[in-house]
Amino acid sequence: MSKQSYFFANWKMYLDFDEANILANAIAAEHKKFPDHVKMAIFPNALSLYSAGQVLNDVGIAVGGQNVFWEDKGGYTGEISATMYKAAGCEYALVGHSERRHQFHETNHEVRQKMQAILEAGLTPVLCVGETKEERVAGKTDEVIETQLRSAFHELSWPAEKGLIVAYEPVWAIGTGEACDPNEAERLHALMKKMLNELAPGTLPILLYGGSVRPENVFDYLKQPDINGVLVGGAATKLESFMSILSNIK
Ligand code: PEP
Repeated sequence: MSKQSYFFANWKMYLDFDEANILANAIAAEHKKFPDHVKMAIFPNALSLYSAGQVLNDVGIAVGGQNVFWEDKGGYTGEISATMYKAAGCEYALVGHSERRHQFHETNHEVRQKMQAILEAGLTPVLCVGETKEERVAGKTDEVIETQLRSAFHELSWPAEKGLIVAYEPVWAIGTGEACDPNEAERLHALMKKMLNELAPGTLPILLYGGSVRPENVFDYLKQPDINGVLVGGAATKLESFMSILSNIK
């Protein structure tokens, strides 16, 4: 029997409203090919999330927000709260994605505030951590991951029954075609698992790998003992490669 696997798709800002809805409908039309052992979630842009979500939810695919704000309501022009995403039908929220950390200068402290808002809203976070190329070359990979994880859970006691998903996404592998060696990804997943045991005791975290996942390499990650699934960007924004990744999740 195949093990339970997770295929999460971050559409980022690649698709506009029409494109996101067209792709959601095209994926939904293929639902008879969805394997039972794969749990899927898609993170469309905030404007298409509601309409795409209705189509995707009907065929068992969950949706999530790409970014949340930590306050519930108020004078925060341009922001969307975790509770608003929840009310729009989301099950998940990405938090600490490297594009937010590095292009929008999101700090570890802000990630921590978003984690709390996500918890209080009843969403499951997909907490992203990962090192830059410079940090890896300087031998700081483990330290960076440890710091990002520790600060995300700083004075936050995660209830054992609440869902928790953490994605290892090396920054240098995202959107570059330079995927992380699967054995090295496994080493870091094992490290994260150990740390989460201490930071969020009693939870059964789901661990994902993200960074240039393609149909040809997806199973190299999924066959690792501590990797439960993948978080895919570019390759999940086209029907053919989306379905091809799915069919390679054995
Ligand atoms: C991502 O943005 O989370 C990601 C993994 O992107 P890509 O698959 O395009 O590298």
